[in-house]
Amino acid sequence: MLTQDDIQLLRKDFPILDEQIYGRRLVYLDNAATTQKPVCVVDTIKHQYFHTNANVHRGVHFLSHKATELHEAARKTVADFIGVPDEKGIIFTRGTTEAINLVASSFGEAFCNRGDQIIVSAMEHHSNIVPWQLLAERKDLKIKVIPISEKGELDLDFFRTVLNEKTKIVAVSHVSNVLGTVNNVREIIRMAHEKGVAVLVDGAQAVPHIPLNISELDADFYVFSAHKIYGPTGIGVLFGKTELLEKMPPYQGGGEMIAKVTFERTTYNELPFKFEAGTPDYIGSTAFATALKYVQNIGIKQIAAYENELLQYASTAMLRNIDKLKIYGTASEKSAVLSFNIGTIHPYDIGVLLDHQGIAVRTGHHCAQPLMDFYEIQGTVRASFAFYNTLNEIDIFVEAVKKAVKMLS
Ligand code: PMP
Repeated sequence: MLTQDDIQLLRKDFPILDEQIYGRRLVYLDNAATTQKPVCVVDTIKHQYFHTNANVHRGVHFLSHKATELHEAARKTVADFIGVPDEKGIIFTRGTTEAINLVASSFGEAFCNRGDQIIVSAMEHHSNIVPWQLLAERKDLKIKVIPISEKGELDLDFFRTVLNEKTKIVAVSHVSNVLGTVNNVREIIRMAHEKGVAVLVDGAQAVPHIPLNISELDADFYVFSAHKIYGPTGIGVLFGKTELLEKMPPYQGGGEMIAKVTFERTTYNELPFKFEAGTPDYIGSTAFATALKYVQNIGIKQIAAYENELLQYASTAMLRNIDKLKIYGTASEKSAVLSFNIGTIHPYDIGVLLDHQGIAVRTGHHCAQPLMDFYEIQGTVRASFAFYNTLNEIDIFVEAVKKAVKMLS
C-alpha cells in the first residue's frame, strides 16, 4: 500500500504541484479532466525534439528510422499496458473523442443499415453520445439508452430486454466521469456477444485508475486518452479487434494510410496504418509510452488501492462535515470521483470560492447533460483524485468547502 511518505516522494515528480495559486499551494482535484505530467514525460518530449526529431515511416535516413522505432515501440508499450498481444489493433488517435468518432463513422459505414439499433447508457460523456447520433441521423438508426438507478448503476435487466437482432453496437463507459461508477463491462460484453453484438468501451476514466486486460475483457473496441493518464495532450488510443478493423473502411484519407494511389483506384495500407492518415504524433506517442511505464513502475493496483483510500476518506469527511450534502454516484464499485451539491447552492459558486483558496475542482455538467437531466440538476461540483493527492489535501479541501458554504449561506 502506498503510504503518505511514498506519495510525498512521488509528488516531487510533478513540479506543478508546488505552484502557488493566489498565494496558496495548489490543491489539484481536477484529475478527471486532465492529469498533471511527471518530469519524465516532459523530458521525453524535449529529448525527442532535441535529439531524434524526424518524420516517421517513410524516411531513409538515420533520424527517421530512430523516430519510427520509438513510435512503433510506443505502440507496443500501449498494447502491453492494456493486455493486447497484437499491436496491429492499436490505432493512435487524437484522443478518446476522435477514437469514438472513428468507430461510429467507419463501423457505422460497414455494418449499420436503416432501422438498426445502437445502445448507449444514460451516464455517457457527450463524446460517446453525439458521434452515434450523427451516425443515426445519417443512416436512419435508432438509439436506445440503458437507464441508471439513483445510485448511478446501470440497469442490466433493461439492457437484456433491448438487446436484439437489430442491435449493431453497444457503446458504454467503463467508468463514469461524473459518478465514478465502475460499470460491469465484462457482463455487458458477455451479454452482447451472446447476441453477436459488438461493444465499444469508453475507457477514458478507467485506464488511469484500474488494472485492465482488454483481451480478457473481450471488448471489441476500447478507447482512451493519454492526457488522463499522465501523458501528453493530443494523443489517444483506439484498440479494435483486427477482424473488425479489417472489414471497416478508412476514416480519413491522406498520407500513411494508403498502399497505392492512382486516379483510377486507391488501395489502403495494412493495419494499423489504414486508420492513421497523415503524420502521426510520434513525439506524443513516445511521451505517452513514458507515462505508461511510469504508472507501471508505481503499479496500477497500488494506485487503485490508494485512490480508493482517498475516495473513502474524502466521502466520509464531507458527509461528516457538510450539512445538506448530496453525493451523486454511490455505486458499490466506484472510482476516485466525488460529485456533489450542497443544498440549493449553485455548484459554480462553490467552484469559484474553492479556486480562491487554491483548490482546482470542476463544476458544471461535465459533458454529461443527459445525466444531469436524470438527476434534475444543472450541474455538480466534482473533485477527482489522482495518486499524487494526499489526505492533507483532502482536509484542506473539506475545510475550504465548509468556508465556502458559510460565505454562501
Ligand atoms: N469519455 C469520458 C468518460 C471522459 O471523461 C472524457 C474526457 N472528459 C472523454 C470521453 C473525452 O476525452 P477527450 O476529451 O480526451 O477526447
